[in-house]
Amino acid sequence: MTNVERVARHFTSDSNCCICGAALEDLDHVLCRCPSALQVWMELVRPNRFSEFMALDIIAWICANFEKPDRFPMRSTDWSLMFGSIIWFLWLDRNAKVFGAADVTVGSVVQNSHRLVLLASHVVGSRMIAMQAGAGSTRDPVL
Ligand SMILES: [Zn+2]
Repeated sequence: MTNVERVARHFTSDSNCCICGAALEDLDHVLCRCPSALQVWMELVRPNRFSEFMALDIIAWICANFEKPDRFPMRSTDWSLMFGSIIWFLWLDRNAKVFGAADVTVGSVVQNSHRLVLLASHVVGSRMIAMQAGAGSTRDPVL
């Protein structure tokens, strides 16, 4: 939960970002504008589209990245999956920093996201092969 949400629920009176001190720690700030998130996006988004990427409101930003997966990334392989993974790891990174867990770096957010994308691609590929082979059930007994 962001600090803006905590204030709305009367859990705290402080809506500032715990990481950078910005006045409002809302979802847009956490996932897009906080310097730690910004560094990640600068590493992945085409420089000539970065202003457009940053100008969208949070809902339009999420929709645009899932609906137009070739628009923003420098490398467009599995951008929808990569975008979702980055958001997930940015959230985990924030929680690790706020709650004093291990130090998380920009590189680890990107690397963990790449690993998750590779794993998901492998699972989907394995299931497609099983379905094409007529193996019957597509359920993975290990999962
Ligand atoms: Zn911040």
